[in-house]
Amino acid sequence: MQKKDTDLHAPLKKLFGFDTFRENQKEIIESILGGRDAFVVMPTGGGKSLCYQLPSHLLPGCCVVISPLISLMKDQVDGARENGLRAAFMNSSQTAAERRAVTDDLNAGNLNLLYAAPERLALNSFLEKLKKIRISLFAVDEAHCISEWGHEFRPDYLFLSSLREHFPTVPITAFTATATEEVQRDTVRKLRLRDPLQVRASFDRPNLDYRVLPKSRLDDQILSFLKEHPGESGIIYRTTRKDVEATAAFLTGHGIKALPYHAGLGDLERTRNQEAFNRDDIHVVVATIAFGMGIDKSNVRFILHGDLPKTIENYYQETGRAGRDGLPASCVLYFSRGDIVKLKFFINQIQDPEQHGIATGKLNAMVSFASVSRCRRRQLLAYFSERYEPDNCEACDICSSPDEGVDATGDAGVLIKAVADSGQMFGAAHVVDILCGSNNKKIRQYNHDALTTYGSGKERGKDYWRQLIDELISRDLLIRARGQYPTLSVGPAAAGLALGSLKISIRPIAAAPAKRAPSPARRDARDYDGDLFEELRALRKTIADRRNVPPFVVFHDRTLIEMATFSPTTEEQMQPLYGMGEVKMGKYGGEFLEVIRSHPRREDRIPRQEPSPPDKDWTSTVERIRTTHPKAYAPWTEEDDAQLERRFKEQLSVAQLAELFARKEGAIRSRLRKIGLTG
Ligand code: ADP
Ligand code: ZN
Repeated sequence: MQKKDTDLHAPLKKLFGFDTFRENQKEIIESILGGRDAFVVMPTGGGKSLCYQLPSHLLPGCCVVISPLISLMKDQVDGARENGLRAAFMNSSQTAAERRAVTDDLNAGNLNLLYAAPERLALNSFLEKLKKIRISLFAVDEAHCISEWGHEFRPDYLFLSSLREHFPTVPITAFTATATEEVQRDTVRKLRLRDPLQVRASFDRPNLDYRVLPKSRLDDQILSFLKEHPGESGIIYRTTRKDVEATAAFLTGHGIKALPYHAGLGDLERTRNQEAFNRDDIHVVVATIAFGMGIDKSNVRFILHGDLPKTIENYYQETGRAGRDGLPASCVLYFSRGDIVKLKFFINQIQDPEQHGIATGKLNAMVSFASVSRCRRRQLLAYFSERYEPDNCEACDICSSPDEGVDATGDAGVLIKAVADSGQMFGAAHVVDILCGSNNKKIRQYNHDALTTYGSGKERGKDYWRQLIDELISRDLLIRARGQYPTLSVGPAAAGLALGSLKISIRPIAAAPAKRAPSPARRDARDYDGDLFEELRALRKTIADRRNVPPFVVFHDRTLIEMATFSPTTEEQMQPLYGMGEVKMGKYGGEFLEVIRSHPRREDRIPRQEPSPPDKDWTSTVERIRTTHPKAYAPWTEEDDAQLERRFKEQLSVAQLAELFARKEGAIRSRLRKIGLTG
């Protein structure tokens, strides 16, 4: 019963309000509709839930979703219901009467989606209930939890191995955001999937902007970031509880509504703080890595790392919580080499030599990510064995300002000479001591003060040389031995340097210059009507509180942004907007239209630039602007502004600038005005 794709677009718009499928979604949905098992790895925010929610609506019977976190189920079900899906959950947070009501609905065939935790499935009484009804499919969320090979093994999941026996004819589909190939094989086997469709989506998150900044006065740096992102939701990660408390207190003292989250707080306080964040009562959480599992808030706009994470896995997972809605989001890591020492201190507590080696290797990879001057995205993906093809990702600090490095070719030569001349048997610390002319016992013992390179790099400082060593290792100019003695030796690529065919440039991680206060132009770095957006956001919050659901369940940020971009004034104009499904239109459309209609029109808003389209052309106008101006929703970054100024002074026309920046001509004109280039 393969469906044609045209059949699937109608329910996609009607239920979810989306016009197109994301990569892989259609293939997965068609396969599920065909009754086949599936195993899907997709990054956070990739759109996994739609892959089973849409079929659940189209297939006869009820789809049983197995989800590990009871605390998330209510939001998941609220979200599905807001879209008009017939969903419910059954778990221990409910009263017996509530559970009975769900059972009645189930028996009456009133449900298409039932969420339950794995421990509930293990109950005989629950299994018996399920056996009496028609089940369309099982969707196992966070499926990697069934594998002991993974990092989040949950014994509860093991019961799911017997699903196949209990329900031999029901398709089983498995979803996860983290699975190595080993875990994937193990999971497929444990769930007894039969010839499943296996999909591994790319781990690239194109809407995330990755940046590494030198850390100097961290709290001030964070505060100035927050001032440039007023009203946006975000998480600030710190390593220790003490630092979490200190940063949260500092921010609160500066008028930012921030709450702490770490394992030292009581259950009640943790839940309350998370809830406040979810509901947009506060915008900022300062947290240790304890804050994680269970954040399904779609409009997290930034993740700041105040300290270096221990591994790239952690970093990827934590930054992955930003921008689930696909809108641009920022990930900033404030990095100082001093953090490495602290993490090494923890690693040195590990007794087992093998575990110690693994932890050290992972930390080295993390340090390399932060200190090497190469596209951050490419480095991240390479770590997960994925090749990133484009030359420039346009959304990391390296790619967006490629000319900022300093030439280190000569220094690289000196460094390699120091390694070679000292016999390729010392670690980084000693080589740096040679270059910086340290006068310690080891130097004297080996007569290294007699080398020509001794003391030749003194004025550069130790941090510079450590960074250059990381850079050269990542480019195979140096090799660091694995294991207990990480000595440096000269690598194969060093020949290119000797031949003069290779240039090395790095961005020294020096203390950052004190940041200027953001200018008014920076604070209003958006092309849509910010005031209208705030009004719409306030209305969303009122509705959400009234209905006792998180605001992002009512509408995504993106939907509000499109309203503030297009300012629709009729239902017909509202209908094509992102996330505007039929049910939501009926429930909330009117209230939002009211706000838009009574808002004073801003002269640079997009429809004003267009010859005001009749309603029947409206959909195509919206579509055209979305495709020809993909950057219309992204804020102007400092680099954008700098580039705009440069190009403007090169006499590019407004039309050329619009093309270059993928934005509306009106937006270009207004930006030029805002940053003071035109009157
Ligand atoms: P995951 O479970 O993979 O982390 P979700 O299912 O929560 O991701 O989806 C992430 C976000 O992407 C949600 O806000 C969802 O509404 C949105 N989304 C999913 N599919 C699409 C689509 N085809 N078009 C636009 N947005 C989508
Ligand atoms: Zn890049």
